[in-house]
Amino acid sequence: MSREYEIVVGLEVHVELATKSKIFCGCSTAFGAEPNTQTCPVCLGMPGTLPVLNQQALEYAIRAGLALNCTINKYSKFDRKQYFYPDLPKGYQISQHDLPLCEHGYVEIDTPEGPKRIGIRRIHLEEDAGKNIHAGDNIAAAQASYIDLNRCGVPLIEIVSEPDIRSPEEARAFLEKLRSILIYAGVTEAKLQEGQMRADVNVSVRPKGSTALGTRTELKNLGSFRSVVRAIEYEARRQWEALQRGEEIVQETRAFDEDRGITLSLRSKEEAHDYRYFPEPDLPPIVLTDAEIERIRAQLPELPDARKRRYMEEYGLSAYDAGVIVRDKAVADFFEAAVAAYGKGTEGAKVVANWVINELARILNEKNAELAQTPLTPDHLVGMLKLVDTGTISGKIAKEVFAEMVETGKSAEEIVKEKGLVQLTDEAALAEIALQVIEANPKAVEDWKKGKATAAQFLVGQMMKATRGRANPQLANKVIRAKLAEVTGVTNE
Ligand code: ADP
Ligand code: MG
Ligand code: ZN
Repeated sequence: MSREYEIVVGLEVHVELATKSKIFCGCSTAFGAEPNTQTCPVCLGMPGTLPVLNQQALEYAIRAGLALNCTINKYSKFDRKQYFYPDLPKGYQISQHDLPLCEHGYVEIDTPEGPKRIGIRRIHLEEDAGKNIHAGDNIAAAQASYIDLNRCGVPLIEIVSEPDIRSPEEARAFLEKLRSILIYAGVTEAKLQEGQMRADVNVSVRPKGSTALGTRTELKNLGSFRSVVRAIEYEARRQWEALQRGEEIVQETRAFDEDRGITLSLRSKEEAHDYRYFPEPDLPPIVLTDAEIERIRAQLPELPDARKRRYMEEYGLSAYDAGVIVRDKAVADFFEAAVAAYGKGTEGAKVVANWVINELARILNEKNAELAQTPLTPDHLVGMLKLVDTGTISGKIAKEVFAEMVETGKSAEEIVKEKGLVQLTDEAALAEIALQVIEANPKAVEDWKKGKATAAQFLVGQMMKATRGRANPQLANKVIRAKLAEVTGVTNE
C-alpha cells in the first residue's frame, strides 16, 4: 500500500435558527433561563398535543438554503426519528428524512491551491432535544442526573456536506465560511459558546491517488472549530495506522475526548432503519410555490463573497484585505460605517482597512473577543484618524489611543487630553530636548563626528523615549541634525 494517505471528511452541522419561539410551540428560545421554565405540553411531549410549524423557522431554513446555493424543494415533509434518551420526552425527534427542504448546494472556501467548492448534500429542519445535567464531574461519578427541557423543540437546521473535505484546515475553512454566510443571511447568531453550532464529523482515509471511499467513523457533537481540527488529525492518523497494521476500520460512532485529544469508540454506527423513520402524521407536508421561494430569494441580503468583490471594486482593496474584513459581518459593517464617516474616498478606505486588519484584529485576537463585545464604534476610529491627520497625535501614539478606546470606549480626544498625548511640534521645546539627549549620549556624538549619519537616528529614538513617543518624528529629526551640526561643527547627510 502507498505510504501516503489522503483524508476524506464530510460534516453534518447543526445550526440553531434565530427565532424567538420554538419550532412547534410558542415557548421562548432565550438562552440561560432557569431549567424547565420554557416548556409547555407540546415540547414536553404530552399525549394529545399537536405541533404547529413556526413559519419564521421555515422561512429562515429556506433563506439558509438559498444562501448556500441549494435547490429548495417545493414538496418536503417531516418524519419521526425514534430513539430512546432521557432528554427526548416524546421518544422521537421530528426531523426530515427522505424529502428534505433543501438539496444540492455548495460553499466556496479558500485553500492554498485556490478557491474550492464543498458540496452541500442537503439541509433539513428539525427540533433540538433537551439537556442532561450530571451532578458531579462526569456521568459515572454523578450522584444524580437532572434534565433541562428548555432546549427541547428549539429549531435547528442540519446541513450535510458531501465528502469533499480533504484536510482538517479545509474542515475549519468550511465551518468558518458556513458560519459567516448564515450570520450574514440573518438566520442564526451561531454563538459557539452557547452551542448554537455543532458538528458531527465523518472521517475516512485512503491511499493517495485512490478514488474509492474508505470506511468512515463518525465523531459526534463537536462544539468548537479547534476540536474539529484536532479530532480529524487524531482520527485520520489512528485509522491509517490501523490499516498499515492490516486491521479493518469499523464503521462506528466515536467521541472526541478534549482533555486527552483522542477519539474513543461509543457505539456501532446506527443505520436509518434503526430509527424506524416514518412520516410525521401530525404535520402537513411543506408545500411551497415558486413565488414564495422567489420572494425569499429577493430578500436575501448581500453575502460575504459579494461584499468582498464590492470592497475590491469600490475601495480598491486587495483580495486578501477584503477577505479578512468581510469574514465577520460586524467587522465589515464597522469598516463601512467608518469609511463613510471618514469620507476620504478610496484613500480613506485603505487607511481604515489598515487599522481594522492590523490593530483591531490583533487586539481582538489577544483578548479572544469579538468586536461586538467591545465598546468600540466607527466614530471612535474616525475621531482618532482626524487627530492623526491634524498632527495632534503621532501614528505611534495613535496605536496607544486605539487600544485604550477598545478597552474603555472613551473617545480619542478624551484619552489624548487625559494622558497628555498631544504631539510635540514646538521647535524650541524639541531643541531643548535635543540638547539634553546630546549631552546624555557622548558616544553617539563621537560617532556623528566620525561621519556616522545613523547616530542621528539613534538620538531621534532617544528623543521619542524622553517624550514618551510624543515628539513629532520629522521635526525631531530636523532639530537633532541642526543641534549636532551646531555642537560638533560636522554635518552628515
Ligand atoms: P448517514 O445518514 O448514515 O449518517 P450519509 O451517507 O448521509 O450517512 O452521510 C453522512 C455524512 O457522512 C455526509 O456528510 C457525508 O459526506 C459523509 N460521508 C459519507 N461517506 C463518507 C466517507 N467514506 N468518508 C468521509 N465522510 C463520509
Ligand atoms: Mg449521520
Ligand atoms: Zn413548548
